[in-house]
Amino acid sequence: MKVKVIPVLEDNYMYLVIEEDTREAVAVDVAVPKRLLEIAGREGVSLTTVLTTHHHWDHARGNVELARLQPGMVVMGGDERICGLTRMLVHEEELRFGAIHVRCLLTPGHTSGHMSYFLWEDESLDPPALFSGDALSVAGCGWHLEGTAQQMYQSLTEMLGTLPPQTKVFCGHEHTLHNLEFAHTVEPHNDHVRAKLSWAQKRDEDDVPTVPSTLGEELLYNPFLRVAEEAVRKFTGKVAPAEVLEVLCRERACFQQAVEPPQPQPQALLALQWGLLGHQK
Ligand SMILES: [Zn+2]
Repeated sequence: MKVKVIPVLEDNYMYLVIEEDTREAVAVDVAVPKRLLEIAGREGVSLTTVLTTHHHWDHARGNVELARLQPGMVVMGGDERICGLTRMLVHEEELRFGAIHVRCLLTPGHTSGHMSYFLWEDESLDPPALFSGDALSVAGCGWHLEGTAQQMYQSLTEMLGTLPPQTKVFCGHEHTLHNLEFAHTVEPHNDHVRAKLSWAQKRDEDDVPTVPSTLGEELLYNPFLRVAEEAVRKFTGKVAPAEVLEVLCRERACFQQAVEPPQPQPQALLALQWGLLGHQK
């Protein structure tokens, strides 16, 4: 299985997953359909299916246009709000594309219908891959907007956190540098955080993607997967995992405001972002 990492919009990732024997391809989170089709054409693959992680505009906005450009496209996801959806998926459903298996994992928290996709291949030495959308990012996770902290804890720790450690993590956004800067404030003495932070700074200077990481690495430096660690509990002043996570989410949002104060925006644009289009990240 080959994965093409395609940076789009401000800091989103769109992915093209290729079954190398059959040359069938599956896209994850289509924001810019023309770019995707160009790449599929260049790779000589037949794109048949879209897996959408969640309904937010920056992950799903290209579905309708893609289906128009390529009739017969199957658009899958776990939330009826996903534009252009043609097939609703349920938790633990398994799909098959040639030798590639897909297990659909409902991971609510960021949105209530957020689906993460775990892919592995028959008789392959390639490690499995997780397309985690905004449920899990490199060294962080998406804001929990629609779920409770308890649901988010279950999604992160009990669902994604128990996948094989060699699983490659392909997330929805390039937020790695700020995530690690925050992780460093949570656990200033964690050497894994420090090492990954200096690596991410170098990647940022060179303007190259930081995906994929591996799940095993994430367990070492991602505070949102480390809520049982003493240092993380101490930072939050809480002990119960969901409460630790709740405080981490709040502190992460404050941290973001400190590093990137929101720009003043015209009222119409704000209405468009928050009213008509919904939260984008
Ligand atoms: Zn989102």
